[in-house]
Amino acid sequence: MSVQKSSGDAADALAAGDRVEAAGRRPRHARQRRFPAVGDAGQARLAAARVLIVGLGATGGAVADLLARAGIGLTLVDRDYVEITNLQRQTLFAMADLDQPKAEAARRRLAAIDPELPLEVRIADLHAGNAVALGRGHDLIVDGTDNFAARFVINDAALSLGIPWVYCGAVGASGAAMAFGAQGRPCLRCLHPDPPEPGSHDTCETAGVLQPAVAMVAGLAAMEALRILLGEALPPAALQYVDAWARAYPRLAVAARADCPSCALGLLPALQPEGEGDALATVLCGRDAVQVRPPSAALDLAALAERLEPACEVELANGFIVRFRADGLVTTVFADGRAIIQGLDDGGRARGHYARWIGL
Ligand SMILES: [Zn+2]
Repeated sequence: MSVQKSSGDAADALAAGDRVEAAGRRPRHARQRRFPAVGDAGQARLAAARVLIVGLGATGGAVADLLARAGIGLTLVDRDYVEITNLQRQTLFAMADLDQPKAEAARRRLAAIDPELPLEVRIADLHAGNAVALGRGHDLIVDGTDNFAARFVINDAALSLGIPWVYCGAVGASGAAMAFGAQGRPCLRCLHPDPPEPGSHDTCETAGVLQPAVAMVAGLAAMEALRILLGEALPPAALQYVDAWARAYPRLAVAARADCPSCALGLLPALQPEGEGDALATVLCGRDAVQVRPPSAALDLAALAERLEPACEVELANGFIVRFRADGLVTTVFADGRAIIQGLDDGGRARGHYARWIGL
């Protein structure tokens, strides 16, 4: 378990050990400790664990809520901000969070539930270039994303780090969850040898989504996470599918492929520069929007707002994001340099818009 320690300082290490042991005995987890598979020792394991949650939308937010209440320290990664259409199913957020970065709004909510819980925030896009660094130091990664490109990056990053991860997704009234062990075989690419093409499958924007289906798959994913962190053996690899509308819950066996580029050949295609996880412009499917992620990392938002002000309409500047309207498009810019450009679905045009107004 990756407890944070001051390097080489035995006294600090001892104090950290004491803190973890004390965290394992907190009264708030008494009913969870009563469950035989948890107990005091299991609760101490959970208190020492660190989980990376990628995406704090419907599924990721629900899993974060469940794991935080269980006493597990979290790192919260999300690239987006809260919108009014999120509130129907993204249960960590309320009206006061509109236009706030989801990762930060999630942290505030979880800290209000448990002020002692270790929580870290990364307002960022997970991609080929940063996934391994983001994952390092964690015992488990939970997929709360809404797209297969990101899931393949998580898959290959988890394989590279030798840590388990849990897949989770919901759309319409159905969804699926699956745990992938630290040994990494089979992996997501064994299940989907070729990532589905963007635009080839339903999304929450095109097919809608019902919150109970989200809650069901998030519950399955959180339970898999608890089992893994408590050291329980993984069952034979299988995707747990949920069709909540049809009341059908098939469990589909997944076999490791002998020629899998990720887990058999170790090529980790999603982590390669210019690979599928490294797109500069990402069409956000069904949202009529494109995310542009420039190569450089940081942006002075206050200076940008000042620069834009005379030329176009700056609608919002709240310390985390700057939003402006220009050329018929609404552009939301984050401090890490990313922009989500609303009103188009063409990556090239989006890059041009970014270069013209923000600068590449
Ligand atoms: Zn594989």
